[in-house]
Amino acid sequence: MTSESVNLDRLLAAPATSTLAWVRDVSGDGAGWLLGELALPAVIVPHGIKSGEVDELFRRDGAPHCVVVKSLAGPVLVDRAWFEAAITGPLGYGRLLFARRPVLEMVTRETLVLTYDVPVEEAAAGVISRRGAGTRGDAVVVTWPDGGLGVVPVSTIFERLAQQYAYQSWHDPLTKLPNRRYLMEQIRLLEQTRRSGDEAWHAVLFYLDLDRFKDVNDQYGHGAGDQVLAEFAQRIKSASRVDDVVVRLGGDEFAILCAGPLTVTQSEAFAARIVLEAAAPFVVEVHDRSGDITEQVVTIGASVGVAHANGARTVLVTSLDILVKQADIAMYRAKARGRGRAEHYEPAMRTGLDSAETVQARRRMERGLRAAIEDGGLAVHYQPVVELPSGRVRGFEALARWHDRALGEVSPDQFIQLAEETGLILDLGAWVLQTACAQAAASVMDHQSTIAVNVSPVQIAQPGFIDVVLGALADSGLPAYQLCLEVTETAAVENLAETASRLRELRKLGIQIALDDFGTGHSSLTMLRELPLTIVKIDRSFVSNLVQSVQDAALVRLVIETAHALGLRVCAEGVEDADQAQTLAAMGCDTAQGWYFGKPGPASGRRPAN
Ligand code: C2E
Ligand code: CA
Ligand code: CA
Repeated sequence: MTSESVNLDRLLAAPATSTLAWVRDVSGDGAGWLLGELALPAVIVPHGIKSGEVDELFRRDGAPHCVVVKSLAGPVLVDRAWFEAAITGPLGYGRLLFARRPVLEMVTRETLVLTYDVPVEEAAAGVISRRGAGTRGDAVVVTWPDGGLGVVPVSTIFERLAQQYAYQSWHDPLTKLPNRRYLMEQIRLLEQTRRSGDEAWHAVLFYLDLDRFKDVNDQYGHGAGDQVLAEFAQRIKSASRVDDVVVRLGGDEFAILCAGPLTVTQSEAFAARIVLEAAAPFVVEVHDRSGDITEQVVTIGASVGVAHANGARTVLVTSLDILVKQADIAMYRAKARGRGRAEHYEPAMRTGLDSAETVQARRRMERGLRAAIEDGGLAVHYQPVVELPSGRVRGFEALARWHDRALGEVSPDQFIQLAEETGLILDLGAWVLQTACAQAAASVMDHQSTIAVNVSPVQIAQPGFIDVVLGALADSGLPAYQLCLEVTETAAVENLAETASRLRELRKLGIQIALDDFGTGHSSLTMLRELPLTIVKIDRSFVSNLVQSVQDAALVRLVIETAHALGLRVCAEGVEDADQAQTLAAMGCDTAQGWYFGKPGPASGRRPAN
């Protein structure tokens, strides 16, 4: 070899300076790699290099598995395995034939050259489409912006792609947390431990559902919602121990599986911590109409359900799937008790657990109801309340109505209970209150008439309840004395002192309070004394037998007299005929409602309409 010959030692010793700085430094989160991140700096050989020289290069110790020839038309890849086969030739004396010829004359196939910032999946697609066209290539050349060249073996690209897909199928791209599939796999592994009879086995599952998350999306857009989810994921991740499995189940639902032993006190403390993490304000960046970015503070909350399972109690847990269901049910209970709190699963909550179908039907109905609340699928009907014996209309009771496209007309007895159990009653109740106040204020209803609105125990238990009521009055302009809140005995019983003090505050403002369904509860007389009532409503079940049953008649008379002695007015519900109306009037009952006087109907055509 003459003066043109190449210094092979130098080529091997000094590959092009590393240009890896051109790639991002975010690798490792599994969220999609760039080609440049996989590349090693190429061993670059000069344009005129002879086949013999390349041959010698490849036979050295530590030789690269390919080199890149810097040709005028662009980089050309020479792969060691291919070169071996080509230079040996079918007859075995190619080495002699080709030794003095420039290697570029031997290379017939095209080199795939891609820029450093091509995503791995795109690079793989490029390789595959070339292979489809019959060209085999074992590596890809990468170009960096500073002119440097790198090489990535095709096998590396495919390996990386497989890892990426595996990662993606187990993770949620938004929060980077593992997904539901991952959780179920972890539970399956635990299940194996359990089946192997390990008594020390223990698992605690926390099921988290964000409260009022939909409001964030509605008010500030999905971008803001995404920021809240990502931030919340970070918060619960750092609140957890390293070996806890923190997953996003989907939407605004998360779960944390603790495989270590936790006492109930410990899991209560941890659940309380999660509730606090969710309640702390979130700062989100929001694009306003003019395209500017502003920061907004949003507050949400979380309802948490907790379920325990351990080796000693395997009888209870037939399959660990049950653990997820139990935690889910406990979470529902937390929602029902007013959200922003945690509940531990108890077997008493089991109703519906046994049948997956029941759970599913409930879920369907819940989704429908949620949509109805959000999209205006609900209506308020009004039933007249009349004075006895004149029959003059003295007000109306607002009754929620839900017509679902799939389910048809759903009875309030069904959906109010569902709404109470899921916490949806807060939105539903606030909406009924606002709608009823607004329609009453806009109607020709005279100034002595009242509009009665049913309020659920779950609503009253909320600290913000008074504000919701005051807001409805302020927005509608309805005077406080024209609003009557109907509470049931059960509402009062759950936390009598608290309920009484909240109702007293409302009563002070002039709002009327009726005790609904009187007689069906347990401690009726206590209620009459403790609550700041203005009206007692005698339950329909007493009225329906009034004329036939001497006992019921005596009871109704007693209620009316007791109420009057306490300065309360009495309203009889469910009056269906003239006999009942006359009997009640004769007993001194103040007002009545029922089909005899008028069925509930929509505001238009009824009196509260305008
Ligand atoms: P409720 O407060 O006792 O309401 C009276 C129920 O009796 C209404 O049933 C009404 O349609 C029905 N009714 C009225 N007159 C007669 C009659 O002469 N005969 C018979 N058989 N029934 C009569 P509805 O509308 O199905 O409501 C059922 C329950 O759902 C209500 O009982 C109330 O507890 C609850 N509810 C309805 N709307 C709301 C709401 O907006 N919020 C809350 N928290 N509960 C509501
Ligand atoms: Ca009522
Ligand atoms: Ca009632």
